[in-house]
Amino acid sequence: MSKPTPVHVEMNQFETKDKQLLVGGHTLDSIADMLSKDVFYAYDKNVVKQQIDKFHRHIPKHIKLHYAIKANPYLPLINAMKDWVEGFDVASQKEMLLAIQSGMPTRDISFAGPSKQLAEIRAAISAGVTLHVESELELERAIQIGQEMGINPIVAFRVNPAFELKASGMKMGGGPKQFGIDEERLMEILPTLDYTKMQFRGFHIYWGSQNLKVEAIIDAHNNTFDLAQRLIDITPVEVETVNLGGGFGIPYFAGEKRLDLTDIGTNLQRLLAEYPALASIELIIELGRFLVAEAGVYVSKVTDKKTSRGQTYLMTNGGLHHHLSNSGNFGQVIRKNYPVAIGNKIDSACEKHPITAVGPLCTPLDTLADKMMLSDPQIGDWLVVYQSGAYGPTASPQDFLGHPHVVEILL
Ligand SMILES: *Cc1c(COP(=O)(O)O)cnc(C)c1O
Repeated sequence: MSKPTPVHVEMNQFETKDKQLLVGGHTLDSIADMLSKDVFYAYDKNVVKQQIDKFHRHIPKHIKLHYAIKANPYLPLINAMKDWVEGFDVASQKEMLLAIQSGMPTRDISFAGPSKQLAEIRAAISAGVTLHVESELELERAIQIGQEMGINPIVAFRVNPAFELKASGMKMGGGPKQFGIDEERLMEILPTLDYTKMQFRGFHIYWGSQNLKVEAIIDAHNNTFDLAQRLIDITPVEVETVNLGGGFGIPYFAGEKRLDLTDIGTNLQRLLAEYPALASIELIIELGRFLVAEAGVYVSKVTDKKTSRGQTYLMTNGGLHHHLSNSGNFGQVIRKNYPVAIGNKIDSACEKHPITAVGPLCTPLDTLADKMMLSDPQIGDWLVVYQSGAYGPTASPQDFLGHPHVVEILL
């Protein structure tokens, strides 16, 4: 017996009307007219809020939610997010400036990233955001620059934990890494540092990204609390905050399911009871894609259709220059399809045809959908790529081949 073919999880986060996909209540035709563009990213505020609500329904109230801006730094989104989350994590000076200008209090902005340049460290100290220090030299530099400026830098240490994330996803801790200071080394230096030269806040323990395995996340949380407690025990000054990392994934590919936060939340509740020292300080979970990816669609127009040796090809005016991750070239090992649909023919009952959709770039890498079942696409229809609200335009090589850049809208 052959196994059933895995399918994509149902894309039921958006409303539809008369077979039209709606983003923030607007049809794609209407959005195209509003923008005077027929290729765009559209983000639905309500879907972002649904994801934030899902977090709060399950995760203990004591744990704050921060948004990692690199997932989607679209300015109107950052400005809206400012009222929906309790802090921003930034990874560049530009992101820091966007975060500050949104009105987010600087004490709730943290600046992570390896290889911070002296000017960035200076900017962070001047702004009063928390520097997530990624190396011993970076700490020395921050103290040095702070002394020149007459300001004690606000710092937290990014920890490269000894534990490694079990299961899939992007590992960003455990083993040798460019991120953070190894836990073993931190244990040596923490008792010896001169804390009078800094405003020490705490620790940032980040272990990975895009994880859909409940047991793996629970395991990482158990390890993170254990590590945080050991760090607190050895630190001679007060620890105000521990960033517990993030890592919650979203389903991109056939066979993947939405992450159920129920058991993760229950386990965090148990950990808070087990570690009173942690339950009494500020704890943070920082998420990027979990909050925004489900809320975004990448929409392009079908401009040509042809058959090549039995395979139907749709040509669109959108491609990997706008959406590198959908093309399978943003860290994926093999290309797999994102969920796609014809946005003006949303109808699960109608007949579907195997279609390969491609963009305008002269490279076989520019594939939007490979042999996917789509409802009778015609020239002029909208090809929609779901799960596109994170790592879109700013994670894509927009100048590659010189086609126009893409526009965005938040509705
Ligand atoms: C990239 C990154 C995030 C966001 O990752 P997502 O997978 O989008 O949630 C959060 N924190 C740090 C330190 C990161 O590098």
